[in-house]
Amino acid sequence: MTTILITGANRGIGLELARHALSLDWTVYGSARTRAQADRMTSHLPGLKPLVFDVTDHAAVRAAASGLDVPIDILLNNAGIIGPERQSTLDMDFSGFAETLAVNTLAPLAVAQAFLPNLRKSAKGRILTVSSQMSWMGYGKSDRIAYRASKAAVNKVMQGLATDLEPENINVGLIDPGWVKTDMGGAEADNDASVVAKGILAVAETFALTHTGKFFKWTGEERPF
Ligand code: NDP
Repeated sequence: MTTILITGANRGIGLELARHALSLDWTVYGSARTRAQADRMTSHLPGLKPLVFDVTDHAAVRAAASGLDVPIDILLNNAGIIGPERQSTLDMDFSGFAETLAVNTLAPLAVAQAFLPNLRKSAKGRILTVSSQMSWMGYGKSDRIAYRASKAAVNKVMQGLATDLEPENINVGLIDPGWVKTDMGGAEADNDASVVAKGILAVAETFALTHTGKFFKWTGEERPF
């Protein structure tokens, strides 16, 4: 049976990822920032095993990992933020930019490092990080530049992690979930979170060495960085 850990599982895409993984009879660990959020999460999803940490609190992430002596097959770095109100290259809220990098770029690596012992216990450990089409280097769009930069940077970090973990057969990749109806995506977005979650888990389930270091749409199609 597959064991998965999903960060930011208390709402949005993460909650739907957890719901779908449970429906597949997987063992599901889901993180939330506070105990109260974790309690609400498990009341929605009985069977889910809650972990409590803020992904930017690396000591708390390490403490959660050291309390978990089980193999993890899939780590899904999902937690993310859109960044500050003021995030233009000409008028930047720099502390908001730093927080965006802390959540979207640094935290996925910190979580991956902390849970690496668990991934090493699996015969087919995989690390997938939810990135965004807004990271794409092929165009010059400049709105929400802190968010775009944080996702472009996490792409590079995870591509490097893929290289470093390839000798251990731990496969690392990035997912573009499209535009999704959540608090972040808004009601006008293209896709329901439940549909996207199913697609992401299908990618995760079959994620192999030939995929490591690459960027995939939630539909399974490889996409350019
Ligand atoms: P939501 O805003 O709906 O949910 C974000 C989740 O991340 C929440 O569970 C939130 O927890 C958690 N989170 C945020 N900051 C932290 C933190 N410091 N520590 C722990 N958890 C945290 O967003 P979505 O579900 O839409 O987004 C999920 C992922 O998908 C993100 O990485 C996002 O960038 C990405 N994405 C989303 C798109 C969309 O259209 N929705 C498009 C492209 C990418 P809390 O409730 O405590 O805030």
